[in-house]
Amino acid sequence: MARFRCRACGQEGEFTYDPTRHECPRCGSPDVQFALGIDEMPEELIDRIVQALSQAKPLDDHPTDED
Ligand SMILES: [Zn+2]
Repeated sequence: MARFRCRACGQEGEFTYDPTRHECPRCGSPDVQFALGIDEMPEELIDRIVQALSQAKPLDDHPTDED
């Protein structure tokens, strides 16, 4: 089970991760934070994360761009 927290409706909980649905199971908002165990991630998603990390650059042009 993956943990999630929706920033739109505030729903928190656990659900079975579905890589085709990156949205809140309650309200459907895409503004959801997921906390997946690495062993729960589909290999395809891990590949995408590894690629993103390898291409990441320092975000020093937006030092305060978070809420
Ligand atoms: Zn929600």
